[in-house]
Amino acid sequence: MMRAAVYLPEGRRGPGQHGEIDLDVLEVRSAELVLPEATIRDERGVELFDNGSLVFDHAWGGGPLAEPALDRQARAFGLVNAAYHTQRALRFCALLLGHSLPHLIVRIGMHEQPRHWGGGHYRLPGQGQQADPDAVTPTGEVHLGGGAGFVRTRDAQRYFHAPAHNTAIIYHEIGHHLCRHTADFRLNRLRPPLQQTNKKTAVDEGTSDLITAVLLGTPDIYGWHRQHVPEGDQRRRKLDPRWTMAHFQGGRDQDPHTDGTVWASACWSARRRVAGAGVDPIRFDALLLRGLEQAGRDGGQRLTYEALRERRHFSRLLAAMAQADPSLAPLVLAAMAEHGIHLGASNSGLGQAARAGQGRLVDA
Ligand SMILES: [Zn+2]
Ligand SMILES: [Zn+2]
Repeated sequence: MMRAAVYLPEGRRGPGQHGEIDLDVLEVRSAELVLPEATIRDERGVELFDNGSLVFDHAWGGGPLAEPALDRQARAFGLVNAAYHTQRALRFCALLLGHSLPHLIVRIGMHEQPRHWGGGHYRLPGQGQQADPDAVTPTGEVHLGGGAGFVRTRDAQRYFHAPAHNTAIIYHEIGHHLCRHTADFRLNRLRPPLQQTNKKTAVDEGTSDLITAVLLGTPDIYGWHRQHVPEGDQRRRKLDPRWTMAHFQGGRDQDPHTDGTVWASACWSARRRVAGAGVDPIRFDALLLRGLEQAGRDGGQRLTYEALRERRHFSRLLAAMAQADPSLAPLVLAAMAEHGIHLGASNSGLGQAARAGQGRLVDA
């Protein structure tokens, strides 16, 4: 165990509370931390850990306008922060699943050319549009940009937006690692390890946003770096009772993140419903994770269009969740129904039904 400074989630807008925790580290290298469940590395070739300490200041995210020593400090803090939250998320998943997910590689400072990058993504080795220019480990990697642009903190300080400082981005990408190795919505386990697909569906994006909300303790998961997007705009991706299947677009050209907000919001409502009934909300989290695992086992032994299509459906995962904890299922199904999600229907069928009854939904 080593003392380490990180951002602790505080359930409100901003990066979190700067504080110290104990990090379970196996090895500290010059710009890499090896943990039992993950390896976190800064790829920009600057030595970050030279004095044996993992306690750093956030240095307002560092960035190109900061003094080099401060930028280095910010990179070191980001790496430690990413390591802590990766460990926390993977241990949460392992606790509820009863087994570990594959060791995860997290690489920071990726894809700096042709322009700086303030985002993150989860990548498997593959081909096509979403293929990564770098060689990727077959069990999956999280890539974080080195940062781009500035955001404001609550007290209006200018902060360089380095994704490793933004816990929501880290958690979201780990959510994809969870989905890949449980529900496996794109049946990647049936593809050759070096020819997997990185195309994500709405249920994958929404589940990753829900995991983010659970671990951050707030439904306004991107409230910090999307503070310029109004809360009533779906692109804010705040989990909210207002997002129902009536807002689901579907189709090839639709952003799966936006459609995913419907699923994430419905899950958040169900989780609140469970807590409101006096049940520990971690029972909902367990129901979701065990449902994801069950959905990965059911059917789909062949990589067919039909098998892939079924795996996109919210109601397919919901059925697996309901089976995972039958005593909790009525509460969960009732909350889901308020978002227009019912068992035994396709996403487009649910969307049509919700739009047909939209007048009632808007009044509710
Ligand atoms: Zn990448
Ligand atoms: Zn995503």
